[in-house]
Amino acid sequence: MRTAIISDIHGNVEALTTVLADIDSRKVDRVICLGDILGYGPDPVDCVELVAQRCEWSLLGNHDYGALYEPTNFNAAAEQAAYWTRDQFKREQDDDEAERRWEFLGTLRVRSTFDSFLCVHGSPRRPINEYIFPEDAINSPVKMSQIFELVDRHCFVGHTHVPGVFTNEPDFYPPTDLGGVYQFNDEERVIINPGSVGQPRDLDPRASYAIHDETANAVEFHRLEYDVESVVQKIYAIPELNNWLGDRLLEGR
Ligand code: ZN
Repeated sequence: MRTAIISDIHGNVEALTTVLADIDSRKVDRVICLGDILGYGPDPVDCVELVAQRCEWSLLGNHDYGALYEPTNFNAAAEQAAYWTRDQFKREQDDDEAERRWEFLGTLRVRSTFDSFLCVHGSPRRPINEYIFPEDAINSPVKMSQIFELVDRHCFVGHTHVPGVFTNEPDFYPPTDLGGVYQFNDEERVIINPGSVGQPRDLDPRASYAIHDETANAVEFHRLEYDVESVVQKIYAIPELNNWLGDRLLEGR
């Protein structure tokens, strides 16, 4: 069984369609999504539609929660983007399709599992909102050990938009340090972040996702170029979306 894990799409349909096409070329059996389908980006409705069609299931991210219910702990640009995002669904409410997409958002879970993997958007102890940053492996050993206490073996998280593997050492390995593949071993418990499809923050603007291969007992990390410039132009053209949300896509931060 090969499972593609996507996360943090953030309304970027150009990045999402590029990732889904790549997934289709790699003999994948199913796709799962760790949340933040929308927020920040110019095409939230199309992204929800594609996730509903293509993913076996999706989790609820903090931005999905923000648009559906209430944006909490967001900066001004993110809060304004959340209200604009909600309006995109409401504007189409007379149409059954849009209502169906909005209802799909309301069914998203905060945690799920597949094989030996616990899956959450943020962290096992605060599934929607807690960040597990690469620097926590060095600076916050107590936080990391408390989080690893909640991980039997393996866990997938999103939320930071930074791909890589945390071990219970604790340590953090970006995909470049792993040659793009993490090989599981019996000694390590791990938390794996596939990175962000639609808004990478590791200074590499390319879309990021991962594939778990059960037979190889490994996770592959993938990066893909897509038409970033056209997404940036769409963001610039929408007054409610701060231009900074476009600028950061160009830099991957
Ligand atoms: Zn996110």
